[in-house]
Amino acid sequence: MDPRGLVIPGGCSVAYDAGIDTTTPPPLTILKARLRHRPDLVDIEIADGRIHSVEPVGTRPPQGQSLEANENLVTESFVNTHLHLDKVFTLSSLGDAALADYQTGGMGQAMGAIEKATAVKLGQDRDAMLTAGRRALAMAAYYGNTHIRALADVDSKAGTRGVEVLLALQEEFVGIVDLQVVAFAQDGIIREPGTAELLRQCMELGANVVGGIPWIEFTEADMAEHVRICFDIAVEYDADVSMLLDDAGDPGLRTLEMMAVEALRRNWHGRALAHHARAMQLYPEPYFARLVSLLAAAGVAVVSDPHTGPLHARVKELLAAGITVSLGQDDISDGYYAFGRNNMLEVAFLGAHLLWMMAGPELEVLYDSVTTSAGRSIGLKNHRLEIGAPANLVVLQSGTVAEALRFHAAPRAVVSHGRLVDQTAMRELSAVPE
Ligand SMILES: [Zn+2]
Repeated sequence: MDPRGLVIPGGCSVAYDAGIDTTTPPPLTILKARLRHRPDLVDIEIADGRIHSVEPVGTRPPQGQSLEANENLVTESFVNTHLHLDKVFTLSSLGDAALADYQTGGMGQAMGAIEKATAVKLGQDRDAMLTAGRRALAMAAYYGNTHIRALADVDSKAGTRGVEVLLALQEEFVGIVDLQVVAFAQDGIIREPGTAELLRQCMELGANVVGGIPWIEFTEADMAEHVRICFDIAVEYDADVSMLLDDAGDPGLRTLEMMAVEALRRNWHGRALAHHARAMQLYPEPYFARLVSLLAAAGVAVVSDPHTGPLHARVKELLAAGITVSLGQDDISDGYYAFGRNNMLEVAFLGAHLLWMMAGPELEVLYDSVTTSAGRSIGLKNHRLEIGAPANLVVLQSGTVAEALRFHAAPRAVVSHGRLVDQTAMRELSAVPE
């Protein structure tokens, strides 16, 4: 199958000009841009894939191609720190049983949901995964989500298949959407013998991040061992760690603490990302206070996805303590969540409701949580709208963050690595209605 001959629901196929483009992007100037933290309008000059200048409007003649922002906001592009890209659009084949288990009973049946959802991997076809993943990434590009930490299950059912598919997609979308591929031990390491070896194989294949889920093991000793194995592999391959932690309604779960302690011991400061940590909502206050201090000391960032489960990490309190927090899409029509389209403005809009963060300054924090803070959480260097930074930008259809969140519309323009993204092709490819 031609990787760029794309079949999408509805039957049409689209060819797009994606893939590896090694030429230097031509100069581009964004005119009359409004910035989040500056009162006057500016022109933004982009050259060699970087932000070359930010000057008051009309300071110098535009270089190369120019793009009119029309006084709308221009910001850093969106970053999605948590996406199960190997499972997107699998809900219809899996059925709703796992989803129902995950979301009911105060998340007391979350482990059962994961066991049910595992069935999707038995009959999973590589081409179908590529097609579905491609659609999700085209959505991301259309909505200005240029960087994604994407997880692929690694276990006795999936083997290395998910990672291989994601690595193929990573190559296909180079220069448009940057993928960090996480080799993720979704079904456990101790309870799923052979997984540690499979994780190493995936790192050899080119996976970027080691992914664990210690809370799913049967005993506390096994949970701690799971954490240690992930860090062993991360140290061997000099890779970041991402772990799904305490993702159930059980106040006794303590794997976030285990991960933070291990990050501290290994000096993995800024390289360990904690996903979910939903049980945190049920922790007694003194334990929570100690945990927050530990997270700060260990440099562990937290990604929350409050729209995919009835519990969520205590985002506001973590932010108040100076912990880096991002919001992730998590799922797109899989066994855990029915919707999703890699539109990070929509994720932040949902977060505003579920986290009760609606005052003006809180909306700004939410916006950071899907742009700059998210970039920091996954180790992006300098994901900032400033001179010298890589030009990964969105030109929005709104002049304020509140308006952008209200409509969560696709940007007027998306710049990835200094180059304009072909949004028309991406919209057609992703079958997003106009
Ligand atoms: Zn998840």
